[in-house]
Amino acid sequence: MTNLKEHFDVAVIGGGGAGMVAAISASRQGARVVICEKMPKLGKKVRIAGNGRCNITNDRLDTTCYNPESKPIVESIFARFGRIDILNFFKQLGLRFFSDKEGRVFPITNQSASVMDALELELARLGVEVRYHCEVTDIKKILRGFSINTKSESINVRNVILCAGGKSYPIGGTDGSAYSLALAFGHTLVEPVPSTVPLVVHDPWCKHLTGQKITASVRYQINGVTGPVVSGDLLFTDYGLSGLAILDSSEELSIAIHRDKSKDTWVVIDLIPFMHEDELVKELSSRLRRKFPAEKLLMGLLPPKFSHVLADILKIRDPKTIASIVKNKKFHVAGTRGWNDAEFTAGGINYHEVNERTLESQKCPGLFLAGEILDVNGKRGGFNLAWAWASGFVAGLEAAKK
Ligand SMILES: Cc1cc2nc3c(=O)[nH]c(=O)nc-3n(C[C@H](O)[C@H](O)[C@H](O)COP(=O)(O)OP(=O)(O)OC[C@H]3O[C@@H](n4cnc5c(N)ncnc54)[C@H](O)[C@@H]3O)c2cc1C
Repeated sequence: MTNLKEHFDVAVIGGGGAGMVAAISASRQGARVVICEKMPKLGKKVRIAGNGRCNITNDRLDTTCYNPESKPIVESIFARFGRIDILNFFKQLGLRFFSDKEGRVFPITNQSASVMDALELELARLGVEVRYHCEVTDIKKILRGFSINTKSESINVRNVILCAGGKSYPIGGTDGSAYSLALAFGHTLVEPVPSTVPLVVHDPWCKHLTGQKITASVRYQINGVTGPVVSGDLLFTDYGLSGLAILDSSEELSIAIHRDKSKDTWVVIDLIPFMHEDELVKELSSRLRRKFPAEKLLMGLLPPKFSHVLADILKIRDPKTIASIVKNKKFHVAGTRGWNDAEFTAGGINYHEVNERTLESQKCPGLFLAGEILDVNGKRGGFNLAWAWASGFVAGLEAAKK
């Protein structure tokens, strides 16, 4: 398989989740594989994923959990390497799992370190060469393959798998600079924006309530159109809003703000989601009849700090007005906290430009793309790693065959 003039059959650029699995899958086909990783370690993001617990996939893995336009490619790749294949792959490496009530799958040890140990052992067993501190700055098409260039060396290979990630969480090794490696071959970029990211809100409520966490229902509103309800933690911070309900509502707002330059971007929050509005009106009416003082009207329904930010409204003593405000509190979203605080990237290299079955570039034969570098992004809950493993596995298989 190896051309004598080439050092390797396959070079994997980026040793994250997609890259490590791509290297394993190519190597199992008999290819000589090298991973070029710019960081001193492999899998920095795998190590921190799920707060160090590594939510590796989801029991409800399906295409509806990804950006809708990417459905054909996601469907095609999961048809070749889906949820069961992912679990079997890791089981074969020695891992066992459990699922939580949201279907999120974790290693039974609850530690990302187990996932990394399993992957690194397999890479070593297969003899995959890993080059650390090896940032690829340029890939050139040569007569029989590619020349991979770093600051210090040049490696000749037959095929390349580009798994250099997106732009989120740059301390994990990804700052978006690797997009240029694909753009140089004529690929195009769907403007990347931070996803699953806290929101910047300039509202006195956030200052007064900093550190306050409640369970709430959140909807985004963009240019007058309201999104689905997301329930969960809501955290007030000195810069704005965070918590899982906000992170899960953030992607559409981020696209509207950063890509579409919209200013008509809002979150509408139901602060008392466990009571219907009519029920709340009745409860407040009864409290008013019982002469509750204004600052105690929401006692037991919201933490005491809220009586301060709602003081003017509570003084009106009109149950309908109070209920309507706490059930539909609107905050203007001025921005997002940006790449350092974003878990995922929305956007990336246009997936229409790769073969949706093999992930081979349609711009340059022999070049494959996998993982977060492509414009495929899943919801929180193990969907992004699932895409990284699956797309990496398929790209590795195909690159080794070619
Ligand atoms: C805090 C946090 C928590 C997360 N938790 C989860 C979770 O629990 N479940 C889940 O499904 N997803 C989670 N994700 C998302 C998930 O980690 C990523 O979607 C996934 O790791 C992407 O894999 P990848 O291999 O495509 O890219 P990455 O993991 O980003 O790997 C890309 C690699 O390429 C290297 N690289 C970049 N440029 C070059 C270059 N020029 N030359 C050489 N190497 C280069 C980088 O150093 C990096 O190692 C989380 C993300 C973050 C930030």
